[in-house]
Amino acid sequence: MEKKVLLDPGSHSIDDVLVHFEAYKRTRRQEQREFEQQLKNLSLNANCEELNADMEVLRAGLHKLHKQQERLQQLWELNAIDPAPLEAEVCEPQKEDPDEKPDQLEVANGESQCVYHNCQRRIDNQLLLLHYLCDHNQADSYCLSVLEGERAVLSFQPQSCVSRVNKVLGLLAYGGQLEQQLGVTQGRRKFYNAFLPDQHTHLETHIPVVVLICQTAALSVLESKKFELPDSQRDTIFVIWLVTPSDCHRLNATLSLCGRDAAARTGTVIGVRQVNDCQDTACFVTVDANYWRLTYTEMERLSNQFRDELHLEIGLTEPKN
Ligand SMILES: [Zn+2]
Repeated sequence: MEKKVLLDPGSHSIDDVLVHFEAYKRTRRQEQREFEQQLKNLSLNANCEELNADMEVLRAGLHKLHKQQERLQQLWELNAIDPAPLEAEVCEPQKEDPDEKPDQLEVANGESQCVYHNCQRRIDNQLLLLHYLCDHNQADSYCLSVLEGERAVLSFQPQSCVSRVNKVLGLLAYGGQLEQQLGVTQGRRKFYNAFLPDQHTHLETHIPVVVLICQTAALSVLESKKFELPDSQRDTIFVIWLVTPSDCHRLNATLSLCGRDAAARTGTVIGVRQVNDCQDTACFVTVDANYWRLTYTEMERLSNQFRDELHLEIGLTEPKN
C-alpha cells in the first residue's frame, strides 16, 4: 500500500492538506486492523496447541479405561455366579454319568506328590506349577509354553540317566488352542495356576505337564516281580512319560526322538498320565500303556553310542470326542 505522508500546511492549500490527512487516517486504521488480526491469529494458534495437548491426555485416559474395562470383564466372567437351576430340575435331579468327562480340561482339586526325585512333597494342584518353577528352578529344568499344533523340543544326555531314578527332562505349560488363548471362542477361560511369579503370570490358564525319563529293568524282569536291575545295562530299558495334574486323561502327546542325525528318528503317541498316579516305573509300566519304552540298543543307536545329545520333540493335543 502506498505510504501517505502529511503535507506541509505552509506550502500547500488547506484543502490539499485535509485530503491527505483523511487518506493518512485511513491508512493508519487499515494498518491497525491488520495488526489486530495478526494478534488474534497468534492467540488462536496457542489455543490449538493447548487443545492438542488436552486431546492427547484424553486419548491416553480412554485407552487406560478400555484396558480396565477388559480386565473387569474378565474378572466378572470368572466370578460370575452360576444361575440357580429351575424348580423342575431341583425336584427331579438329573442323574450324573459317573464316566462322563468334563467338557474342558481342568486341574483337579486336591494335592499331588511332586514328581522331582528327592522332593516328593505333596503340593496343591493349583500350586504345582509355582512349585516346579520356584523350588526346582535348576539349570536342567525349564518351562516351555506350548499350544495345540506346536512342538516343544527338550534336549538331554541319555547317559546322564541314573538307574531307577526318575529324571525330569523338562516342564511344559500347555495353553490349548490358540483361539482359546486369544479368547476368540465362547466360554470361560479356566484358571489353573495360582500365585505365579510376575514373569510367569501369562501361564495362569496353562496346564502344567512334566516330562520324565527313567532307565529301569526290562518289562520281563518287572513282570516277574524281581525289581533288581539286571547285571548288564543292555538288558535295561528307557521309559519316557508325561504327567499332568489335569483332571483326567484327556491330553495326548506325540513324541519323536532323534540324535545328531535328524533323519534317523523314532516316534510314538501316548496319553499323558495323571500326576497323582504312582510314578514308580516298577509299578506302572506293567499295567499302564501311557509310557514310551525304548530299548538300550535303540538309545545306543540314536545317540551314536551315547556320545551325542538326544532331542525329544513333543506335541500335545486334546482328543476329539
Ligand atoms: Zn518338588
